[in-house]
Amino acid sequence: MRAEPQSFDRVLSSMCTEPHPAAREAAERFLATNPGDPGTYPTVATLEDEAIELLGEIAGLAEPAGYVASGGTEANVQAVRIARERADARRPTVVVPESAHFSFNKAADLLGVELAVVPTADDGRVDLEAVRACVDEDTAAIVGVAGSTEYGRVDPIPKLGEIADSVDALLHVDAAWGGFVLPFTDHEWHFGHAAVDTMAIDPHKMGQAAVPAGGLLARSADLLDELAVETPYLESTSQATLTGTRSGAGVASAVAAMEELWPDGYRDQYVRSQNNAEWLAAELESRGYDVVDPELPLVAASIPTQLFEALRGEGWRLSRTADDELRVVCMPHVTRNQLESFVADVDRLEDEVGIEVPVSGE
Ligand SMILES: *Cc1c(COP(=O)(O)O)cnc(C)c1O
Repeated sequence: MRAEPQSFDRVLSSMCTEPHPAAREAAERFLATNPGDPGTYPTVATLEDEAIELLGEIAGLAEPAGYVASGGTEANVQAVRIARERADARRPTVVVPESAHFSFNKAADLLGVELAVVPTADDGRVDLEAVRACVDEDTAAIVGVAGSTEYGRVDPIPKLGEIADSVDALLHVDAAWGGFVLPFTDHEWHFGHAAVDTMAIDPHKMGQAAVPAGGLLARSADLLDELAVETPYLESTSQATLTGTRSGAGVASAVAAMEELWPDGYRDQYVRSQNNAEWLAAELESRGYDVVDPELPLVAASIPTQLFEALRGEGWRLSRTADDELRVVCMPHVTRNQLESFVADVDRLEDEVGIEVPVSGE
C-alpha cells in the first residue's frame, strides 16, 4: 500500500505547516542538490546567499552572515558553539530563560557548557533581575526567546543586550517560530532593535517553507568563522555548518516562500492567525476555561484532562504545555472553519464526558 501523508485538517499542535505552493514546487526542483558542496552545486549555493539576504531583511540586519540550517535546533546549537569559542572561561555558562526550547539542553550536553536557567516572571518573559544576578565573567552568552514555544512570549531583548554587553557576552535570540510574525507587531526583537549577535529564525515554521529549512543569522562574518572547519575533499575550503550534506530543497523552498510572501503575504497571514488565536481564546474563556492571553498566534488554556483526551480521540492533534494546558498553534493551515468545528467538538464532548464548567461571571 502506498502511504499518504496525513492531512492538516485537525492538526492544531504543529509548529510547521503546509508549504506555500511556490515553496513546494521549488523544493521538488532542488531535491537533488547539496548546498553543503557549493563547488559542485553553485546554483543552490547562490540561492542560499539570497535566503540569508532575505532573512537579514526580516530580522533587521543589512549585511547578514549565516546559513540555512536543518532547523532551530541546529541554529541554537551553533549559536552556543560560537559563544563557547568566543569565551575565555574554562567552563563557559549560557544563560537561558526557563521558557527556552529544549534544544539548548542538547547544545549544553554536546558542547560541554553550563546552562544557567533563570525563571520567567508572571508575564511569561524572563525575569531581568534574575538574569542580572546570574551573569558573571564565565557567561558566554545570554539567550532571549522571541516567541516562546509554549506561550508565544517575547523576552525584553534590548535589555538582555545591555546585560550581555556588561559582561562581554554574546546575545542570541531564538526567533525560530516567532521570526515570521514578529515583524508585524510592536515587539523589539531583532538586530535593528538591540545588540543581537546571533539569531535562530526558521523558514520551515511560520515562514511556510518545506522542512528542513532553519536559519542561523550572525551580525558579522567573523562570528560565523568561529564555526569553520577545513574541508579537504571539497572545492570550497571551509564549512561552518553542523551537517555536511544538506537539503537543497529546504534552501530553494525558503527562498521561494520568502520571495512570494515577504512582507505582504506574511503580514496577511499574521493578521489571520492572530485573529484566529484571539477568537479561540475568547471562545474558550466564555466557556469558563482559564486562557493565557495570546500575544502571538498561540493559545494555551486549562481544560480538563478527560476533555483533552476525548478531543484527541476525535482525531484532533493537540499538545500540552509543561503545566498541562491545552496548546493550540494557529499556523497558516489552521482556519476559522477548522477552529469552529473544534469548538463545536468541545461543546459536544463536554456533555459526553460530563464536564461541569463554571460559566464566566457566575
Ligand atoms: C521549534 C523551535 C525550536 C526548534 O526548532 P526545530 O526546527 O524543531 O529544530 C527552537 N526554538 C523555538 C523557540 C522553537 O519554537
